Amino acid sequence: MLNAYSFHNGEPIDGAVLVFAPSFKVAKKLAYPVVRDWSGCEYTEVRGYRIRHDEWLKANAADKLKLAARTPHVIESPPACKGCDLWHDELDSSGHCETCAEEREEEA
Ligand SMILES: [Zn+2]
Repeated sequence: MLNAYSFHNGEPIDGAVLVFAPSFKVAKKLAYPVVRDWSGCEYTEVRGYRIRHDEWLKANAADKLKLAARTPHVIESPPACKGCDLWHDELDSSGHCETCAEEREEEA
């Protein structure tokens, strides 16, 4: 079983990669070259965490074949919210995260 992890170089707002891997260690090894590419940071500066509610990401962002074969992999550009450009969260049918969807409702 693969878990979902998010990795960045300290400021998640600057962008983060999504990694599917069996453990944090494996995930970080996969994430590092990608994070380094955009930030030039050191291995020790790469930060990450496990995404507990990963059902939506597994269904909508993961490489289905790799997920089924339990092959660890990186998703560099997961489906992001149209409002805030972040991808940490589930998106509704219009492509917005819960926070942005609520703001849109208030504006409407
Ligand atoms: Zn949003």
